[in-house]
Amino acid sequence: MIPIKSTDEIAKMRAAGAIVGDTLRMIRQMAVPGVRLRTINKAAEKAIRKRGATPTFKGYHGFPAALCMSVNEQVVHGLPSWRKLKSGDLLSVDCGATLDGFIGDAAITIAVGEIDDAADRLLRATRQALLAGLAVTQPGHTLGDIGAAITGVGEAAGLGVVTQYCGHGIGRQMHQDPQVPNHGDPSTGPVLLAGWCLALEPMLTEGAANLRTLSDGWTVATADGGRAAHFEMSVALNDSGGQLLTLTSDGKWP
Ligand code: MG
Ligand code: MG
Repeated sequence: MIPIKSTDEIAKMRAAGAIVGDTLRMIRQMAVPGVRLRTINKAAEKAIRKRGATPTFKGYHGFPAALCMSVNEQVVHGLPSWRKLKSGDLLSVDCGATLDGFIGDAAITIAVGEIDDAADRLLRATRQALLAGLAVTQPGHTLGDIGAAITGVGEAAGLGVVTQYCGHGIGRQMHQDPQVPNHGDPSTGPVLLAGWCLALEPMLTEGAANLRTLSDGWTVATADGGRAAHFEMSVALNDSGGQLLTLTSDGKWP
């Protein structure tokens, strides 16, 4: 059962989403060489709580932190450790906030200091894959259209496309129906309807998109050690298209 949200509920999702957008913007500014992941996580939790929201990830299936922070070959679900960022790192940050019962969920990959050309290409392609997915996240398109758009960008760039993890419906729970795969065939699968709220989250890899979970039980990394990037945005479908929910308060990409 895929929930249809009312205009009022979507307004609440946008309010939660703006906290996520603003927090990610703050994190982008903080993520410079020498800063510890733990320091950023602490500041993010404080910023979320200051707005009267709660960090959705903290305690979710026992996850111990407000943010998922995944560096270089880590893809998702990394832990905010004492690790210090250094120039050239790719930092993927996934953030969730719950406000008034509704959830915003978004992720960005940040270039720390100076990154090499391959890392820059990976980052740009992953952001482009998200944009391509969002472009077809409109009533009348299908879930297959979204997956095909994401995979199309990844493959055209010669990058791996992670299919083990995917986007999802979002609302009062972080993960609702439907699943939003990062691969698919155009014009297949359920037709998108106004009132759906979805989180799209492509993950691309420099090498093969085979994954392994590290011994901490959380961090998912590429099996071949190639670097990864992850961009996510929550979106509400309306009659005329899609409204991006996890932009900053002033309507900008984080
Ligand atoms: Mg997320
Ligand atoms: Mg998500």
